[in-house]
Amino acid sequence: MTAAEYAVQLQAAAGFIREQDDFLVVAHVQPDGDAAGSTFAVAWMLQSLNKRFTLINEGPIPEKFMYMAGPHEVIEFEKAPPERKFAAVISVDCADFARIGSVSECFEPERKLLNIDHHATNDGFGTVNLVRADAAATVEVLYDLARELNLEFTPELNNCIYTGLLTDTGGFRYSNTTPKVMQIAADMLARGVKGHELAERLLETMTLGQVSLLKRSLNTLSFAHENKVAWLSVTLDDLSATDASSDDMDGLVNYARNVEGVEVGMLFKEKEPGIIKVSFRSGGLADVAAIAQKFGGGGHVKAAGCTIRGAMSEAVERVVREVGMALA
Ligand code: 5GP
Ligand code: MN
Repeated sequence: MTAAEYAVQLQAAAGFIREQDDFLVVAHVQPDGDAAGSTFAVAWMLQSLNKRFTLINEGPIPEKFMYMAGPHEVIEFEKAPPERKFAAVISVDCADFARIGSVSECFEPERKLLNIDHHATNDGFGTVNLVRADAAATVEVLYDLARELNLEFTPELNNCIYTGLLTDTGGFRYSNTTPKVMQIAADMLARGVKGHELAERLLETMTLGQVSLLKRSLNTLSFAHENKVAWLSVTLDDLSATDASSDDMDGLVNYARNVEGVEVGMLFKEKEPGIIKVSFRSGGLADVAAIAQKFGGGGHVKAAGCTIRGAMSEAVERVVREVGMALA
């Protein structure tokens, strides 16, 4: 996308926000730092525009991201679905409509949707689309949108922006760490964001559950295709045996991906009996978004995911075979 095309998208998105009111703001199911950061960033932005809004996610926002919330509550759709419906929706960090999950049940049939995202596999499902695939995080796009709307960069908004950048770049290490990411991060630091505190909280600190689960899941580390493919698996039994929560699986996939010589690392997570969520990480030789799409998922070239119905062993076999073909 050219700079001029992006400028047009930014204007259209700003127009949508100025014209509409009473928004539903939703991020993808099982929100990560960028999804949570984008949800709260939009909340702070809408607040400074004196707009009404409701934040909803299919499930809970992990506790470790709640420092961004301030007074803003996120309704947990599966626990307490709202009784009303919404005509103006803003989705953030959702590559496709399915990523919104059950929250789409409270959309008006005639709803207008602003789709703000950074996934290359985004299919443009919005009424208005603000999607930049070369942005490291959705908060990077929101930073541009805040400027377009002439909003003040408050400490609360800045914390959200920095959080999404920090988590989606793996602490400013992945290849999506562009000069622009560093410029925005520098701007946030100059405005008072405590970068080291956020890094400590989000990247360094491990919960006890996380450590126990790491210990246990490393026993499952397996290799195929001349050790170019590695994976770990976590079953529901592993979670209960280690007293770990599903958030405690965050980052586990890197232990497969980071082994020397590995091109594609994966984590297979049993969500419910017979439902396996797969996380992919690639060194770049294989496009894991394309592989995930074959199983109904998506994401980025180097980080993607999908959900497979079937037994753990069956899911592993199907996916490992597909990854092997992509590397051949
Ligand atoms: P993770 O492995 O951290 O859950 O996800 C890695 C990347 O893939 C993220 O950008 C995430 O949004 C995307 N992703 C994960 N699962 C899915 C999925 O089922 N569908 C799509 N379209 N993207 C996914
Ligand atoms: Mn993201």
